[in-house]
Amino acid sequence: MAFVRYYVGDVVKMKKSHPCGSDEWEVKRIGTDFLIVCSGCGHQLLMPRPKFEKAVKKIVSRLPENE
Ligand SMILES: [Zn+2]
Repeated sequence: MAFVRYYVGDVVKMKKSHPCGSDEWEVKRIGTDFLIVCSGCGHQLLMPRPKFEKAVKKIVSRLPENE
């Protein structure tokens, strides 16, 4: 599988839905840990990069300047 690069502002779809029903999260911070915010309820979650990469199903949208 190709290495995927992520950017702040990316909206990603997760394999598992959040309890609020949304499965889309916005990437707020990138590094060893990724800070993501649920699009449905605004819940913030910090997760290590490997865990984040495994949880992501696909990138839904990306800011034009990062395309
Ligand atoms: Zn949520």
